[in-house]
Amino acid sequence: MKEFEFIRRYLSAQSYPNQVLLGVGDDAAIIQPTAGHDLHVSSDMLLAGRHFFADVLPQDLAHKVLAVNLSDMAAMGAVPRWFTLSMALPVLDEAWLNAFFADLFAMAAAYGVSLIGGDTVRGDWVFNITIMGETPSGQALRRSGAQAGDDVWVSGEIGSAAAALAHLLGDVRLPENLFAECEHRLLRPTPRVALGQRLLHIASAAQDISDGLAQDLQHLLRASQLGAVIQAAQVPLLPALKQWMVQQKNSTALFERFCLNGGDDYELVFTASPTKRAAVSAAAALSETAVCRIGTLVSKVSEPSLMLENEQKQIIAFQPQGFDHFV
Ligand code: ADP
Ligand code: MG
Repeated sequence: MKEFEFIRRYLSAQSYPNQVLLGVGDDAAIIQPTAGHDLHVSSDMLLAGRHFFADVLPQDLAHKVLAVNLSDMAAMGAVPRWFTLSMALPVLDEAWLNAFFADLFAMAAAYGVSLIGGDTVRGDWVFNITIMGETPSGQALRRSGAQAGDDVWVSGEIGSAAAALAHLLGDVRLPENLFAECEHRLLRPTPRVALGQRLLHIASAAQDISDGLAQDLQHLLRASQLGAVIQAAQVPLLPALKQWMVQQKNSTALFERFCLNGGDDYELVFTASPTKRAAVSAAAALSETAVCRIGTLVSKVSEPSLMLENEQKQIIAFQPQGFDHFV
C-alpha cells in the first residue's frame, strides 16, 4: 500500500465533532478550543525494543501508545480532545493496519478524542502521539502546589507491569495466571482520565506514574519543594501479586523493583489535604477507580526527599532508581 492510499483509506474517512474545523487531509488541522478553557499539549513516543517488543500485537500497540498519552491528560485533570499520530513503519501492511486502527479508533471513541493529523514515514517502528486536552482556565492539576501535611494517594495497583516485564526478561518466574494478569496491565494500561478530572479542586498536585512510583513521586516533591513519608505496606498491589511476592525469598527486593522503581503503571499519584479525604473517596467512587492513601508530605528538611516506612514506623533504606533513557 502507498502512503496516500493509506491516508485516504484509514484516516480521511473519519467524522469529527464540531470543534474540529478541519481534520486529516490538509497541511494542518484546525481546532476550536472551548472558550474559557486552557489547552494542554503533551507528546509521548514509543520505540520498538525500548517500549515494546518487536512482536507486539498491533492492537496492543495501538492501545498503549494512546493510553500513555491519555495518562498525561489524566495527570493534569484535563479532558482529552484531539491527537496527532506520527509513525515510522517498515511497510504499510493491510492486516497490521486494520488491527492497529480498529483498536486505536475504538479507544479514541471511548475516551472522546479525535485523530486530527500526523505523519507517516518508512522506518523502524516508532510511534509518537501528541495529545491535546482542556481544563477550565486556571484549574489544571500540576506537580507543584502540594502542601506539607497533605496525604499522598495512588490510584489502582502498582507494580504489575514491572512484574510482567521481569518475567518476560527471565528474571522471575510468575505463575501462569498471575503473569497473564500482570501482562495485561503492561500491554493495556488503563489511563485514569475520569479520576483526574474528578480531582480538580480536590487534589493539590498530581502526576502520572510512568517511570516508577518513587521516581515520579520525587518529581512532584521537587516541584512542590517537599518531602514525603510513604508507608510501604499501604502501596496497593494486585492481591495475587502480593501473595506471590511474600512467598519469595527476596520479597523486599522484589517490592522495590516492581512497586517503587518499576515503570509502566500509568496510575496517578496525587496529594490532597486530609480535610479532603471524603472528597477524594467520592471522586474515586464516581470515576470507578480505586485509590489508596499511602503516606504524608512533610516539609523538606534533608535529602532524600522520599522516605519509606515499614509497619513498625521505622525508616527503610532504599535507592530510588526509576527508568531513565540515558542511564
Ligand atoms: P504534508 O506533506 O502536507 O505534511 P502529509 O502528506 O504528510 O502532509 O499528510 C497528509 C494528511 O494526512 C495530513 O492531514 C496529515 O496530518 C495526515 N496524516 C499523515 N499521516 C498520518 C497519521 N499517521 N495519522 C494521522 N494523520 C496523518
Ligand atoms: Mg503540507
